[in-house]
This record gives sequence, structure tokens and C-alpha cells, in this order.
Amino acid sequence: MKKHKDTRIFPVPARVGLFLLALCAGIGAGAAEPGSDTAALLVHYRHLHRNPELSLQERNTSAYLAGQLEAAGFEVATGVGGYGLVATLRNGNGPVILFRADMDALPVEEQTGLPFSSTARVVNTAGEEVPVMHACGHDIHMTVQLGVARQMAADRDAWHGTLLLISQPAEEIGAGARAMLADGLYERFPAPDYNLAFHVSPDLPAGSIGYVSGYALANVDSVDITIYGVGGHGAYPQKTKDPIVIAARTVLALQTIVSRELPPLESAVVTVGSIHGGSTHNIIPDEVRLQLTVRSYSDATRDFLLRRIREISRGIAQSAGLPDERLPRVTVKDEYTPAVYNDPDLLSRIVPVLESTLGETAVTAVDPVMAGEDFARYGRTQAHIPGALLWLGAVDATQYQEIRKSGETLPGLHSARFAPAAGPTIATGVRAMHAVLLELFGGR
Ligand SMILES: [Zn+2]
Ligand SMILES: [Zn+2]
Repeated sequence: MKKHKDTRIFPVPARVGLFLLALCAGIGAGAAEPGSDTAALLVHYRHLHRNPELSLQERNTSAYLAGQLEAAGFEVATGVGGYGLVATLRNGNGPVILFRADMDALPVEEQTGLPFSSTARVVNTAGEEVPVMHACGHDIHMTVQLGVARQMAADRDAWHGTLLLISQPAEEIGAGARAMLADGLYERFPAPDYNLAFHVSPDLPAGSIGYVSGYALANVDSVDITIYGVGGHGAYPQKTKDPIVIAARTVLALQTIVSRELPPLESAVVTVGSIHGGSTHNIIPDEVRLQLTVRSYSDATRDFLLRRIREISRGIAQSAGLPDERLPRVTVKDEYTPAVYNDPDLLSRIVPVLESTLGETAVTAVDPVMAGEDFARYGRTQAHIPGALLWLGAVDATQYQEIRKSGETLPGLHSARFAPAAGPTIATGVRAMHAVLLELFGGR
């Protein structure tokens, strides 16, 4: 999940409560399938957790996974779009299915107290030494993918097609999927018929899966606005064009795009997350800089938001009397991630499989969120490729019940205290994704 600290807005449906009762009675989902190797996978999980690497620095993680996936019987290509891996298992005629896991960690100092906590520190691209932690659960993603790889290799009599496992770098900065595609992912390797991924959820209990049909995660744009003025003495405002006042008017006017210009049922966010200008009390500065995050689901809404941000910024500066050469500069940053759209037809095949594998009460429809994920890029090249990103519950079941009673909140993604219940989460992830793959390969 890309740099959004708060995704903790799932409702907690009654079905999850029922599921927990079932789990307590020992009849629910979450147990490892016979033959699955959760204990062995936990060794890999702890290794990955203890050795996190930042976006674009996933050298050791990538090498470690390459070795494991090769040992599982996959043909592994390294160095695809940076440290990206493509592990292929060709198993006769049938669909091509891409299943992606992401590898990067975050500049967060771990405070979970786990015995296998990360103490790693690295130098980031700005040359600063920073702590590193798998605070977004990508270590779980990689471990589950490895478990699925082993099961699919062991089960190869039960399915036909080509399984393409992607170990993707740099998800947190929205760069990895684009880099792998630009490096010829769909030209050098078979182009997929379906794309799959999952993300751990800090809001659902381990043993459960959450899903959204349709838009699940948002278009994410970062926008920089530099508002120019004409600086001068704070006691002689008549001789200036004050960019701080222009910026204040701009910030307020931008809030009316969502509240007054979009249909009320259309979801969007315009947040001004940073505003900087000026140096001291009595000087009117020459410029003020704003940084925005802009979120939407449809391309049409995205285009509308970005157009109106330009028009409003410009119009307010013009109304303040600034000449054309001093109008604001509005820059939409390159790090855009497109919205994740879960194909409804694909979901209608996946959900019944999950229900029969994990138990009906363990599979829950959840609300979409406005966080971002660059997984969407895999479906957006060439013709549309149907895909789905699922939420994998990661909260210890007992803790989940306690929290529900007390009304407290648990550490979310990107928190220094985010500590998923690794065993049941990994076991459930492997069972779920294995079952989904068998269904899509026509092997069930
Ligand atoms: Zn993530
Ligand atoms: Zn993240």
C-alpha cells in the first residue's frame, strides 16, 4: 500500500463476528491445509521481517526470493525493472495468471517488541541514514507467495496453464509496477489473462478475507502549486501582492471542488498537506508553495479535479491583480498511481471459491478506500486485463475481539507497532490464493 498511513476505515461486519465465534469453537477457517508448510514459511517470514530494504534497494530481498522460487521449481528472471523478479511455471495449455507480491519496506523505526524485530538502518536516496521496517506487511505478501509457489508446483497435475509470480520492487513510492512494465514485462514474458494480488489488512481478523467488487483503491496524484506574489514590507501591503493571502484563498477555494462541483455520490479527496511561505513577521514573501494529494476513482473525475485545481489557482491569482507571468505554477507529479478496479466478473468467480475454502463467514465485502496501490498498472496496459486485489485479515483473533469490546484501535499499516498475526495470516493467504488460482486455471 502506497504511503497512506490510515486505511483503518473498514466497517466491521457482523459476519466477521460470527466467523470469530466459529473460530473459537474450533470449526472456522484459518487452520493450515494438510501438507501446507506454515512452520517452514514462518522461518522465511522472520528472515524477511528482520532484513527489510527500502524502495529501489531490494537487492538482498530479491536475491533471497529468487533462490527460494528457483528451488520451488520456477524459472526465475532477475533484474526486471530494477530488482524485480518474474518467476514462471509453465504447465501446459491454459490461462496465464499473474500473481504479484511487493518487496519493499519503509523508513520506520520498529517498535513492535517482536523477537525478530528489524534493527536495520540504511542510507536513503537523500543520503540520510534511516531505520527500516516492514511496516506495510510486504514480508507477509512475499511469504504467502512463496507458499503458493510451492503448492502450485507440488499440485501441477491438478491444473494447466502458466503461473507468473511477480516480486515487485518500489511499491511504496508507486514506481515498481511501472518500471517492470517499462522493462518489457508483457513482451518478454507471457501476457496474463488475469492479475491477482492481496494486501494484509490491519482491520480484519487473521483467517478472513475482505473483498471489494469494482473500484477498491483510488487514483492518487501529488500536485505542487507555487503561488507567486510581489513581496515587500509587511507595513506597506499596498505596494505588494501578498501570496500568503492568495494561498489562503486558494486553499479554501480548492475545497469547493469536491463539496460544490462534483456530484455528492462521486468520491474524491483534495487535501492540501503542506503549505510553506515567508520567513518572518514583517516581510511579505514573493511566493508560497502548496503540496496536495488528490484522490478519485474514475479517470473522468481525476481529469476534472486536476483541471479545476489549475483553473481555480490561476483565477484567484488573476483576481488578485497578478500579471500573466506571475500566475501560479501547477505541477502534477509523475508518481501517479491509477485506481485499482476489481473486475466484478472475476470477483464473482473468486468469492464463492474463498467461501468454500475458508468458510462463508470468513469472507466479507468491505468498503473501498482512497489509499493507492500501483498493482492497478498491470491491468492498464494493452487491452484491459481483469484483475483483483483482496484484503487478507492480519489481526490476531483474540486481540481482535478485545479491541472490538474496548473500542480501542490497533496499529495500522505504516505504524511502527504494526505486528500482524503471522502464522494464521500466512496459512490463510496460502490456502486462499492457492484455491483461487486452481479455480482460475480450471483445476478445481
Ligand atoms: Zn503495502
Ligand atoms: Zn504501504
